[in-house]
Amino acid sequence: MDQFEHHEETNENWHMAHAEAEQVLDDVAFYRTLIANVIFLGKEGAEDWVLVDCGIGHYSKRIMEAAEKRYGGQPPQAIILTHGHFDHVGSAKKLADHWRVPIYIHPMEMDYVTGKRDYPVGDATVGGGLFAIMSPFFPTDPVDLSKYIHPIPNDGNLPFLKEWRVIHTPGHTPGHISLFRDKDRTLITGDAFITVKQESSLAVFIQHQHVHGPPAYFTHNWNEAEKSVQKLAKLNPAVAVTGHGLPMEDELLANQLNDLAANFKELAVPKHKNKEH
Ligand SMILES: [Zn+2]
Ligand SMILES: [Zn+2]
Repeated sequence: MDQFEHHEETNENWHMAHAEAEQVLDDVAFYRTLIANVIFLGKEGAEDWVLVDCGIGHYSKRIMEAAEKRYGGQPPQAIILTHGHFDHVGSAKKLADHWRVPIYIHPMEMDYVTGKRDYPVGDATVGGGLFAIMSPFFPTDPVDLSKYIHPIPNDGNLPFLKEWRVIHTPGHTPGHISLFRDKDRTLITGDAFITVKQESSLAVFIQHQHVHGPPAYFTHNWNEAEKSVQKLAKLNPAVAVTGHGLPMEDELLANQLNDLAANFKELAVPKHKNKEH
């Protein structure tokens, strides 16, 4: 065992005692992997639960620990990925290896998580906090989840997610999805919009809640990203659990999300990108 591995293991063990999901609703909880959230769908102790997103790399043990605290040894029915960016799939392979469960992603993201295609290179001119914090975690090898990955069916119906609708929210990535539950208007956004200002290192850690557009560095199509935010705003969510930042709810969420939808170009699109439209 070399020094790095030793260090990493010590780190994971230390964190494990602290790995605990925070509950948003009685059947929705999240756990933050340094900067990216993973989401647990299912009541505490439920036998049928689902994991949404898998956080950055080297967090698999902590995610397992948080899952164990909430669900005992019961593995999830499946893992769903909102998109294939490394900060959402980093621990996916290890979790699927451990639980032996299928992973679902939108058909348009399949190539990016099976080593066939890389996402476009990020826009370095919009760098900033989140990007700087994440850069040590940039993967050196392409993600390959071929063994476990399945495309979400075209009708968006996943048998283990009866109450939830899959909503295609492209822009940040081509096959980005969000999840929505009509009965209580709960929204899982992935990176379609987030609640932390990703250009500020301080904001990333303080996690002051404010609705923001998708992380700019990795967003490839701003027109589509705008339409996706408008689509989500129309759903009038009561609660939003986002890929980065703390959950938001009620009026504060509604006001800021509507504001973002109405003024997306000014609020979310980097200035130099605006000129291209
Ligand atoms: Zn992303
Ligand atoms: Zn992200």
